[in-house]
Amino acid sequence: MDRQQEFVLRSVQDEEIRFIQLWFTDVLGVLKSVTIAPAELESAFAEGVGFDGSAVEGLARVFEADMIARPDAQTFQVLAGPETGLARMFCDIVTPDGSPARGDSRQVLRRMVARALDAGLTFYTHPEVEFYLFDEAAYREGRLVPVDHAGYFEHTITRLGTDVRREVVSRLEAMGILVEYAHHEGGPGQHEIDLRYADALTTADNLMTFQTIVKEVAAENGVIATFMPKPMIDAPGSGMHTHLSLFEADRNAFFDPAGEYQLSLTGRRFIAGLLRHAPEITALTCQHVNSYKRLWGGGEAPSYICWGHNNRSALVRVPLAKPDKAQSARVEYRALDPSANPYLAFAALLAAGLAGIEGEYDLEEGAEDDVWRLSDAERRALGIDALPASLHRAVEHLEASELMASTLGEDAFDFVIRNKHQEWQDYRAQITPFELDRFLPGS
Ligand code: GLN
Ligand code: MG
Ligand code: MG
Ligand code: MG
Repeated sequence: MDRQQEFVLRSVQDEEIRFIQLWFTDVLGVLKSVTIAPAELESAFAEGVGFDGSAVEGLARVFEADMIARPDAQTFQVLAGPETGLARMFCDIVTPDGSPARGDSRQVLRRMVARALDAGLTFYTHPEVEFYLFDEAAYREGRLVPVDHAGYFEHTITRLGTDVRREVVSRLEAMGILVEYAHHEGGPGQHEIDLRYADALTTADNLMTFQTIVKEVAAENGVIATFMPKPMIDAPGSGMHTHLSLFEADRNAFFDPAGEYQLSLTGRRFIAGLLRHAPEITALTCQHVNSYKRLWGGGEAPSYICWGHNNRSALVRVPLAKPDKAQSARVEYRALDPSANPYLAFAALLAAGLAGIEGEYDLEEGAEDDVWRLSDAERRALGIDALPASLHRAVEHLEASELMASTLGEDAFDFVIRNKHQEWQDYRAQITPFELDRFLPGS
């Protein structure tokens, strides 16, 4: 047993922990958990906990079903909430012979992060998570009623939304997950919470914890919290803009005081990689049919592949780095939505950016116009392409991507493609109220 594992055993005693949840994430980003008693902890560290991998989406095929969850002692945290004595650890999934399970998305990101480290680069992410809160009782009756009618940054005195937000933030902080900002977003009942930047693996773990806590607190208050990208036609969607940076030891590799917008050559190439590979990674950053309703539904979601300095219509935005704050140099990727599997999405973003650095891609000039207002011809003249308009198009791009095949590894790659094709087919088979309204009477 290593020192970190001994620390966990001691904490379990000191904090009177009764149950330890072992968490892991399936390929679609759904959290799975198995609970063990403290007496089982030593053997869980030594041997892991076995389970049927074929029952978890994308993890294993039936004939190689046995899988083992190995708790990562570094991720031990006591869970905050009304019930005491609960803790959790994230797990890596391995096969019985001890090799990493190929469908384990946490290890897909781990592998990608290690590749960047080989080049001396640490990848940091800072997500801005948007979500809606709806009244639960109304929802049970088939109505979607937001908990408030406030707007962007509005200071609300209606209790519910603010209470949920405040309770989420204090539980996260009790668990050592720091929150940078929390505010009301543009839609009624829409809120945003921004997690402080951390290395990408920690951020992805934090996002899994975050979504769980938001849902728990919401349920305790008779509210439904949803990370669905576009729940209402006439209100903005929920995105998860994510700020990305690379550090070489303690130096921000995106910062150059002499560069345009204080952006280094490494930063420019990273952006060029994000832009060139954007169509291929979109099925991972925006994984559901509904994600494309957000991308093409206005409300400040990006639809076109371009970058800009402080341009909120661009896919990639370079925010103002404070002159005295070299460390804050970063780029914001705006397509991501909160229904993504954060492990796969971060791995894809890092792979795209690194491809730009390693391939020394040139960055075209930024777009400072509002690209939504340009005509198609004007956008064509500027060389600005569109993001995929549907999950179907996005999966076609993913399927043709060698970069994503090698980033995800064969198993996760094949699974995502099969699953997304199926989602598209299920969706295409629907006959919607829109069609009945428009076509039935006149036909
Ligand atoms: N909700 C918008 C989106 O979907 C973002 C709005 C904002 O953060 N200003 O991306
Ligand atoms: Mg924000
Ligand atoms: Mg926002
Ligand atoms: Mg933003």
